[in-house]
Parts: sequence; structure tokens; C-alpha cells
Amino acid sequence: MVEQHQFQAEIQQLLDIVIHSLYTDREIFVRELISNAADALEKLRFEQSSGQAVFQPDIPAGISVKTDEKAGTVTFIDSGIGMTHGELVDNLGTIAHSGTKAFLKQLAEDKKPDARLIGQFGVGFYSAFMVGSKVEVLSRSHKPDEQGWRWTSSNGGGYEIESAGDIPRGTQIIVHLKEDAKEFAKEETLKRIAERYSNFIQYPIELNGTRLNTIQAIWGRNKSEITDADYNAFYQYVGHDHEDPLLRLHFNADAPLSIQSLVFVPQHNRENLGLGQTKPGVSLYCKKVLIEAHAPDLFPSWLRFLRGVVDSEDLPLNISRQTMQDTTLMQKLNRVLTGRFLKFLDETAEKDAVTYEKFYREYQQCIKEGVANDFTHREALGKLLRYESSTTDPGKLTGLADYAKRITGDKKEIYYLLAPNRESAEGSPYFEVFQSRGIEVLFLYDAWDEFVMEHLRTFDGKTLRAAEKADLDLLTPPVAPDALSDNAAQELAKWIKEKLAERVGAVRVSKRLVSSPAVVLESDRTMTSSMRRILKNMNRDEAKNEGIQDLEINPRHPVIVRLDKIRQTNQELAVKVVEQINDNARVAAGLLDDPRPMLKRLNELLEQVLK
Ligand code: ADP
Ligand code: MG
Repeated sequence: MVEQHQFQAEIQQLLDIVIHSLYTDREIFVRELISNAADALEKLRFEQSSGQAVFQPDIPAGISVKTDEKAGTVTFIDSGIGMTHGELVDNLGTIAHSGTKAFLKQLAEDKKPDARLIGQFGVGFYSAFMVGSKVEVLSRSHKPDEQGWRWTSSNGGGYEIESAGDIPRGTQIIVHLKEDAKEFAKEETLKRIAERYSNFIQYPIELNGTRLNTIQAIWGRNKSEITDADYNAFYQYVGHDHEDPLLRLHFNADAPLSIQSLVFVPQHNRENLGLGQTKPGVSLYCKKVLIEAHAPDLFPSWLRFLRGVVDSEDLPLNISRQTMQDTTLMQKLNRVLTGRFLKFLDETAEKDAVTYEKFYREYQQCIKEGVANDFTHREALGKLLRYESSTTDPGKLTGLADYAKRITGDKKEIYYLLAPNRESAEGSPYFEVFQSRGIEVLFLYDAWDEFVMEHLRTFDGKTLRAAEKADLDLLTPPVAPDALSDNAAQELAKWIKEKLAERVGAVRVSKRLVSSPAVVLESDRTMTSSMRRILKNMNRDEAKNEGIQDLEINPRHPVIVRLDKIRQTNQELAVKVVEQINDNARVAAGLLDDPRPMLKRLNELLEQVLK
């Protein structure tokens, strides 16, 4: 009896695109089907090692690829875990992996859909439909009471399942090639493609009866014998990527733990495509035997973009996934690996600034996440941060360590200013005093950078301080012959407070201002106005209370000097001017949501000017 099934809607949509729009780089289907075969063998090995009874326990583990030019087929056979009827339905047609949606979205956004990404999204099986007009899957589960099944789908229009009776354990995937894909039935073609990855697979692979690989894990080999091409091909296999990696670290250690590790950073951070969090991508081995694919605890979450392998002889071979999560051994591994990788990043920054900057631009969110969440590595992560600064050229980045080196005298502070871009940072009233005194300020353009700085707090013994919170009282203000006397300025401040009343907190005479008449500062010294802006956007309660900014006036600014004169003779005008000065300062701080109410006053003031 033949059962008819429909694909789940998203899978159907994916298949339609795969069949009708993906014409380039079709050869990746070989990598994907071989990698599924290897996964199936690993899963079987795992079942066996945990004592499960297995059907046909004596069939050796291996992968066999067969080409048939006459029939126009290519077949992938493994003696792995196999699939039951239910698993065929679920895995190949019903349950859309989380990656399906993400991949569809990527395809929809990209004018030139990139087939090469398919494996990264966990939908590699469907790549068979790029080259096959019909795909047949014959499978028999390792579970002793199961029979064999044949799953067939032609041109992606639903699929059929029927009994296949007494077949050997494992899975056979027969791809009936489309007219324009017949080249993949040629032995030479398949050999060229399969050889590229076969040496990284921990099981024997045959092509038409001839052995392709010599199983030797690349990470266990002597570094001097491994070429860049080997490394890159291995990365493309484990990372399901078509590009070479941006960075690689091949790191071996004997103490405190025995570790052989080979990890890569992809050229591009997939999270920047807006596809949500990347799943961890480093697999854990013990003496070349897979313990856990994509182990979540091997590295901290902020290093989830890493791809590769870690092999440690110190792990008990039959460790269960459950117990692994809480072993102190895992924590130790994590600490050693993370520390080593951070050191590697620091060395890269030192030796090859261009590559480091490329890395930083792709992965800065992860580094910042690390600073905020990973207390153990905070200082080392802080060293990796990069920002523009008032002393660098536009677009050039600098680090905290370099800033610290540039500090003269015994000053103990690193200043930063959050602004939407360089132009507004340089024009900010909070920057004036720094500029006039030649003090460096880091420019932060990402709203979360302020949180990052507050988590980091200090760097290399220096305090990180927001420019607007900086206490610059000790600095002598610039000389201005027409400035109000201290006394007159204090009197004026008192008068302004009377007039603005509840609309401001305290009114003070400022020592920080050079070219602005006034500036607002948060009365609550734990908050900055940029932070308030962020919280406001998030609709947070802390930001609701808006009337508590202090106003600082610049006794050296002509507007303030003349204001003091006019308040003796024309109170009404003076009050308007004060209100306008306050609003202007609020605009500069990004705190005035609706500037329209002040237009009426502004027009009245213009009227006076033009009298
Ligand atoms: P992924 O490998 O990322 O899970 P695929 O689309 O490549 O995604 O495969 C989907 C699922 O189909 C696999 O997770 C597995 O359960 C099943 N599968 C595919 N090929 C095989 C195979 N050769 N043997 C057993 N199961 C397989
Ligand atoms: Mg796969």
C-alpha cells in the first residue's frame, strides 16, 4: 500500500524555491548528504555505547556513494541509525526545523538566493532537490522491531511512503538526477567533490567500491603537516559554509587538561542578518569520538559564533549528555578554552589590526554581551572593545588600552560620550569642556554601549566615566573677560530657579561649558540623559519622571551675560529667554519629545529681536 503525504507548508515553500530558483553551487548537496550520513553513524554509535540493543550490530559503520551514469542516479548509503516510518514523516516532511523559516526569510530578502547557506540552517536534506527530479529514501531503523520503508518524492509535490520490507539497517538516498544535473552521475565529478570533505569524516567512505578517505582527525595531526587549504576545507565542512574562515585557532595543551582544539570564526556573523541567535557550533570529542555535537557548554554563550571541534582525552568516554552539563570538568574546559581564545583575539589585534577590525565590526555585539554577562572574563573583553574617539580620525577605532596609554599625568579617568554619530558627539555641549582642554573622549554610537561601560566600570585602574557625569570642578574654567562675576552668576542662578520653579531641579553655575549658554544634567547622578532616552524608548518606568534635570548655566556666554542685564529692565522678556534656554538645552540632550509647543515663544522672541 502506498501512502500519500503532503509536505508541511513551510517545507513545501522551501522546496519550491530549492527546485525552481537555486541553480548555482548545486554540488553542496553532496556535502549535505554525506554529512547527514556521518551524523546518522554518530547517532548509532551513541545508542550502542549507551547500551541500547541495535538491529544488525555487526554491520560495520561506513558510508558508500554510488554513481550510475546509465540510470542517471547518485546514491548515498550509510549503515547508521536509520529512520522509522514516523521518523521519515517527521524528519523529512512534517516538522519544519527552526531553520526553515530563517532560511526562507534569507531567500526572500536576498535578490540572489544563496544555496550554499542551506546546510547552516539545518535544512541540508532538501538540497537533494536542487539536482534531483526524484529523491528516494530507503531506510531501516536500528530499533530491533522495525521494518524498512521507502520514502519517495518527485519534483517536490508531496511524498509517498510504502513498505520496503527486509532491508539492511541504515539509510540509502537515491537521487534521480534532473536532465541538467546529469554530471553528478559521473564518477570523476563525485570523486572531486566528495574528496574535498571525506578526510574529515570519522567513518570510511567508499565511492563505487573504492575507499576515498584515510580517517585521521585533522585536529590531531601535526600542525606543520596541515595546509591552509586543509584547514579551510575542514572549516567549510564543519561550518556548512562556502567562504573561508576569518580566523582560526588550532590550540593543543597538556595541562591543566589535555586539549586538542581547532576553532574558526566565520567571515560573517549570521546574527547580523537578523535571523536570531546562532546556535553554538563547536562539537566535543574524546579521542576522536564524538561526545556531543554543537555542545552548548563548551564556550560561553557570547562565543556561540565559533565553529569547530574540541577533543579532550580527559573526558570519560561514555559520559552522558545530562551529567556532562554539570561536571566541573566541563567548566574547567570552558575556562581554559575561553581564556585561550581571548588571548588569541588580543594577539590578533596586536599583530594584524586590519583583520581584527574586520572581526570586531562583525562580532562587536557578542563582545559587548560578554562584557555585560561574563564576569570572569570582563577585563580581557574590555580590552577588545573598540570605539571612535575625539582624537582619532572619523571612522578609525581605538581601544581602551590605547586610550589609557595616551593619558598624561596622573589622571585616572577614561571619558565616554554616547551620541548618535560623530557629528552630534562633536557638537554636544557635554563635549565642550573636554575639547577646550584637549581631553580625549570616546564616542559611543550604540545605545547599549553605555550599559557596557557601566558593567565594565574600570579598565586598567582607570575609572570609566560618562562625559556628562564627569566632575570637572577642579579644572579652571577658560578665561573670559566679560564673564559674570561669581556673585552675579550665583544670583542669576537663584533667579532662574525661581522662574522655572518645578520645571528644573537645581540651577548651578557651570564650569564645564565653553560655547553653549546652558546644559541640562540629570539630578539623579546614577542616570545619564542618554540612558534616560533609551529607557524611554523601552517604555520603562524609571524614565517616566522627566522633570528632574538640573540646569547649569555658562557665566561666560553672551546670552547669559546679557540675560543678567535684561532681567533688571525687562522681566517679561527675560523669563521668556530663560524658558527658551532651558528648552534648547533639553533639545541638545535629546529629552524634548515635542518641540512644537515652544514655537509660539520662539516666534515672540523673534518679534522682539526684529523690533
Ligand atoms: P540537519 O542535518 O541539520 O538536522 P537535514 O535537513 O540535513 O537537517 O536533515 C533533517 C533530518 O533528517 C535529520 O536531522 C535526521 O533526523 C534526518 N536524516 C537525514 N538524513 C538521514 C540519514 N542518512 N539517516 C538518518 N536520518 C537522517
Ligand atoms: Mg544535515
